[in-house]
Amino acid sequence: MDLASLPKAHLHLHLEGAIRPTTILDLYRRKGGEYAHLTLDEVTRRVQMTPDDSSFADFIDKFQFILGCQDESADLVRIAREAVGDAHADGVRYMELRFSPHFIEPRSGLSADAAIEAVAEGTVAGMAEYPDVVATLTLIIDQRRGAAAAEDAVRWAARYRALGVTAVDIAGDPTVYPLSDYQAACAHVRDEGLGLTVHAGELQGPETVRVAVEDLGATRIGHGIRAVEDRAVLDLLLEREVTLEVSVTSNVYTGATPSLELHPLPRLMEAGVRVTINSDDPGIFDTTLTKEYELVASTFGLTLDDFRQTNLHAIDAAFVDDAQRGELRLAIEQGYARMAV
Ligand SMILES: [Zn+2]
Repeated sequence: MDLASLPKAHLHLHLEGAIRPTTILDLYRRKGGEYAHLTLDEVTRRVQMTPDDSSFADFIDKFQFILGCQDESADLVRIAREAVGDAHADGVRYMELRFSPHFIEPRSGLSADAAIEAVAEGTVAGMAEYPDVVATLTLIIDQRRGAAAAEDAVRWAARYRALGVTAVDIAGDPTVYPLSDYQAACAHVRDEGLGLTVHAGELQGPETVRVAVEDLGATRIGHGIRAVEDRAVLDLLLEREVTLEVSVTSNVYTGATPSLELHPLPRLMEAGVRVTINSDDPGIFDTTLTKEYELVASTFGLTLDDFRQTNLHAIDAAFVDDAQRGELRLAIEQGYARMAV
């Protein structure tokens, strides 16, 4: 199988986690200061996880280092445009790019409005360059900030719908505020007609998946793989047709799975859960979407038909309108029909 050219939908991709190390190097050189003289190797070491620094705390350190490279609107425009270019190289037809103005502002000083407008501008420029890619934006509620800040994220998402924002996510350190604190904000997400996905069942157990689905009304779960630990939660996912955004390499590095071999992906598929394949933070995990496909094909034996199915699940759950969903479904169906010949 030529996995690179398989048509793909990519639901779970963080803007900062998608930045090329060469771009981080460039931006730090231009900015001056303590990181201006790092070599590409040194930057790559600070950005990428290795088996020696693979705790969640290490991951957050890397994320903070990456965030420090962007301090102008033009940086965000470039990063978003390049993310669309990299998606094109991965055979991606549909992508969702997620980010939080609350992550960006403290390091860059860029207001939420400036950050969202810049990311949207970069995405539009990327789509003009690669017209076979459709990209939408998802704003993240920073789980470390509590309910009031969450309402900001919902307001911004609603305000910037015309620039391609279609959904809201909850992400960040899950130990500061429990997901249940975001119930009111998530109700507002739904009232606004925006999509809702929530990071859960990754660093914390299956009960967080239940809260995300039952109390917050999420139709999609970022990761969610630990649902496998509780049959009742698995049944809930089946009953509500919830889609999981699975990122295998990320799960291995953050310890969400005890090992690659024990990753729940095959068990989730066997149970009939709607799973999708994602890269999460390709820059940090030294991966691409194509590498993730190679990994699950070689480790768990996923076939062309499995990839067709996971991509159709992704399109079914994509945060787009029905007309766009129909077009994307057709693009995926036609792509796989050509591959099968
Ligand atoms: Zn994520």
